[in-house]
Amino acid sequence: MTQLLIRRELLNEIIDHCKEVYPNEACGILAGRGGIIKKIYRAVNVDDSSVTYRIEPFQVLKNLKQDGLEMIAVYHSHPHSEAYPSLIDVERASDLDSAYVSIYVIVSLMHEEPEVRAFATSDRKVREVELIVS
Ligand SMILES: [Zn+2]
Repeated sequence: MTQLLIRRELLNEIIDHCKEVYPNEACGILAGRGGIIKKIYRAVNVDDSSVTYRIEPFQVLKNLKQDGLEMIAVYHSHPHSEAYPSLIDVERASDLDSAYVSIYVIVSLMHEEPEVRAFATSDRKVREVELIVS
């Protein structure tokens, strides 16, 4: 996937969530059908941390299944750093089955205006994915 399309209102939902749990990292899932994002699912950051996150996926995946949607990407926030995957992000992404999730959306709150970027990671390599807001 080289592009990720998202509606402005869904992107705002993500940013609102990230601001609400600040200064901790927020995390959640972008879900949809046929590659189109339909819904945002907030998740609990099990790490309860301002520098890392870990998603508790089971409840989210259950809700997703009930709604008949599939996971498209995972989002999380960087309260105090750039919207770019940290070393830990890359390591943890590489530990997951790459078929499970491949796109990571990162919201940086370090500047006054939130910055949102998307990435694909595999084999510890990071590639930017174009985020198109409609
Ligand atoms: Zn991160």
